Amino acid sequence: MPPQTPTVPCQYRTGKTLGSGTYAVVKEAVHIKTGEYYACKVINKKLMEGREHMVRNEIHVLKRVSKGYPNIVTLHDYFETAHNLYLVFDLCTGGELFDRICAKGNYYEADAADLVRTILKAVQYIHDAGIVHRDLKPENLLFRSKAEDSDIMIADFGLSRVMEEEKLRVLTEVCGTPGYMAPEIFLRTGHSKPVDIWAIGVITYFLLCGYTPFDRDTQQQEMQAIIDGDYKFEPAEYWAGVSQTAKDFVVDCLTHDPNQRPTAAQALQNKWLASDEPHFVPDP
Ligand code: ADP
Ligand code: MG
Repeated sequence: MPPQTPTVPCQYRTGKTLGSGTYAVVKEAVHIKTGEYYACKVINKKLMEGREHMVRNEIHVLKRVSKGYPNIVTLHDYFETAHNLYLVFDLCTGGELFDRICAKGNYYEADAADLVRTILKAVQYIHDAGIVHRDLKPENLLFRSKAEDSDIMIADFGLSRVMEEEKLRVLTEVCGTPGYMAPEIFLRTGHSKPVDIWAIGVITYFLLCGYTPFDRDTQQQEMQAIIDGDYKFEPAEYWAGVSQTAKDFVVDCLTHDPNQRPTAAQALQNKWLASDEPHFVPDP
């Protein structure tokens, strides 16, 4: 007998798994009546015991905000069963930015600047709406289509405030990398909008050279490096084709003190993103 196809409360049929993250599984889902494809995120309610009210609140905000901006994955629908929460999003078929960076090795500086500008504008929009993403990283930046010049989309936010403690627990107890987390998160001195700008600094570094700035042998060492702001633009051969303007942008985003770090609007004014002048072009 073929395995039973699980049905998301009546209207959707779920298919293959698209990905899984810290606390959820995301499956392809087809709306039975319309035949439209979506991505359905299934979250176990156990992870939010006692905070269900907060979760529903955030889902409401996410639904409204995500519809208002082109580079944010739209939340279409939302269901609950006794055990799970189901969030139905626009399907992005182009995969994670993470995989594209890995496939390319690194991005050309001009292409990296275009991506970072688009991401920052979307971040500015969510910050203006009073939302902090808290988990920006290349695994949560998805391409809408498989095209080389596909739009990039911000995914995986909205529940971040509710899940923060859970994520820290998972991170410290199980696995995962703190690589994109700002120092104030570990120092527990606050984690508001500036954490997203920090993450954009780490993402930009990764785009330009193909590895992350605080990568260390152990998680403990990695956290310490973040707290100490201990990173370099090395080995030199990976950075030879990168302009000082780009490095200055990374340094600016990785400002240790969150109060001194640029806001999204200020980062967009940075010379690297604001000017139309051609950037350093490496020798052929
Ligand atoms: P988590 O909070 O568990 O990290 P995410 O929302 O980041 O969950 O989803 C986990 C993975 O599922 C993503 O990294 C991505 O690969 C895939 N995914 C998530 N949303 C979509 C989507 N809308 N379209 C296609 N794939 C998606
Ligand atoms: Mg994720």
